[in-house]
Amino acid sequence: MDSIKMVDLKKQYDFIKEEVALAMEEVLEQTTFINGPMVQAFQHDLESYLQVKHVIPCANGTDALQIALMSLQLEPGDEIITADFTFAATVEVISLLKLKPILVDVNPKTFNIDPKAIEKAITPKTKAIIPVHLFGQAAAMDQILSIAERHQLYVIEDNAQGIGAQYTFPDGRKAKTGTLGHLAATSFFPSKNLGAYGDGGAIFTNDDQLAAFLRGIVNHGMYKPYYHDVVGVNSRLDALQAAVLKVKLQYLDFYNERRKEAALKYTQALESHPDLLTPFRAADCDSHVYHQYTLRITNGKRDDLASYLKEQNIPCGIYYPVPLHKQKAYKDPQTDDTIFPVTNQLVKEVISLPMHSELNSKQIEYISTKVLSFMNNK
Ligand SMILES: *Cc1c(COP(=O)(O)O)cnc(C)c1O
Repeated sequence: MDSIKMVDLKKQYDFIKEEVALAMEEVLEQTTFINGPMVQAFQHDLESYLQVKHVIPCANGTDALQIALMSLQLEPGDEIITADFTFAATVEVISLLKLKPILVDVNPKTFNIDPKAIEKAITPKTKAIIPVHLFGQAAAMDQILSIAERHQLYVIEDNAQGIGAQYTFPDGRKAKTGTLGHLAATSFFPSKNLGAYGDGGAIFTNDDQLAAFLRGIVNHGMYKPYYHDVVGVNSRLDALQAAVLKVKLQYLDFYNERRKEAALKYTQALESHPDLLTPFRAADCDSHVYHQYTLRITNGKRDDLASYLKEQNIPCGIYYPVPLHKQKAYKDPQTDDTIFPVTNQLVKEVISLPMHSELNSKQIEYISTKVLSFMNNK
């Protein structure tokens, strides 16, 4: 059996090597390394794939979140509601822009932002909600969009982990995550479901005006060469990364299907154990693309399981070990810790198993057997 990796980018590369080489060579021959035809071609392909009007490529997912917020022309101190249980980039950009992050608790089954908690956190200063499609599972967008509409708030989806997931509305209508709110941000970090061979990111919107504004913000606030209308940033997707992404976008659905198959196999092997909870799966099966396959270990032995797996040469991850409201950088002495019962519990129980599009049945069986053998002996 091949050695088990958390993410196996080498195996994935071996399969698409020639196509990637050809696409990269095209860029090298064109020598338009920034904003060239390859970036535009990828942008176009991604717009068609997502069925969204505008994709604005940029340098990374964190920039995408920051630039999305910059386009809303908010005032310092305006409040942005987001989840306590997510990667720090989501809250980092809020603080950097001198806006006020308002962290709220999450749902214990989906790990995603809790709409009831959002509603409780709304004040006259609230301007936007940033739901994160954590671990690849769509947040409760129907409820979030209706709260936002009632309170006239913007919704910016953090789709860094959810690209390719399809959300089903209660009336049966389906749409890709990242196309549901006013704006969305995604990351093409190599280990993401659609990963480049370096950094990359993009903002999505169906709003023509916001899109036009965003295209200037990413380019030093320029709307006409050397006329700077707003304070912008320099955030670009380089053409070599666009070449890789253009090739890999063709395989995104295939990659996500492989992840779903792997998740199903894990779940079938593990779900009957009384001391662990397998990831919640909505009836439609399309709304989770398993950026991570994350278990909850409910008998208090999560850390022991992690050490055991590492001894067995099975990598695993703890995403995330500390709630954002307890991180030094984001701690607010006024925050009441008791409003985060779910996140406080999740950080002690979650463990993510290897998950990628190249994981095979033998490896999944081996990992599951080891997890069960540990759980049964403790
Ligand atoms: C990866 C990630 C980001 C940041 O993306 P980068 O490209 O690494 O800047 C933001 N939010 C979430 C939820 C992520 O997982």
